Amino acid sequence: MDRPLPPVVDPGPAGPPVPPPSDAVVLFNGKDLSVWTDSKGQPAGWKVINGYMEVVKKAGSIKTEEKFGDCQLHIEWVSPSPAVGEGQDRGNSGVFLMDHYEIQVLDSYQNRTYADGMAAAIYGQHPPLVNACRPPGEWQTYDIIFHRPRFDEQGQLKSPATMTVFHNNILVHDNARLTGPTEWKKRPPYQAHADRLPLSLQDHDHPVRYRNIWIRDLEK
Ligand code: MG
Repeated sequence: MDRPLPPVVDPGPAGPPVPPPSDAVVLFNGKDLSVWTDSKGQPAGWKVINGYMEVVKKAGSIKTEEKFGDCQLHIEWVSPSPAVGEGQDRGNSGVFLMDHYEIQVLDSYQNRTYADGMAAAIYGQHPPLVNACRPPGEWQTYDIIFHRPRFDEQGQLKSPATMTVFHNNILVHDNARLTGPTEWKKRPPYQAHADRLPLSLQDHDHPVRYRNIWIRDLEK
């Protein structure tokens, strides 16, 4: 809680959804969760209404069937309005690259929490460079350029995962190096894993909504 909070920057109003480019894999087009499952591989239990998906409390996190390594990800989200709860208990969800590396989703509009747990933080490691949150009820975007960690044949780390992230089109991570998987109050070391793993979205008991999710595979 003592870590300084980044300055607030007003990103301006939300625009319409950003159209997917022709080489993107569309992971959610507002119609169904056909490319998603729950954590056990069963049909995803989140709601789809009016072009968005919404977290269903206790339905669990969801993940893509397709697996990805290095990628460019676009995702849009909105936190519940009116806001309910405080700190980590307000509009909490998360975007997990390779199921291990979380960009936090949280309503950080006039809502204080620890710097490396706020919206757009690389959870538990790097606070965003600025707080570019829009108010609850307004759509927000993340654009993430992710490079996976590299491991040698013995499973030793050769190079860490890195992320460059734009929150509402504002740079919030500039090639940040991850210390390992993201966890609560821990900085666990890397453990060798596959070159491609699912993208997952977190159920943290709050009805956060997502729309217009697309990804460009940077290893094809
Ligand atoms: Mg979270």
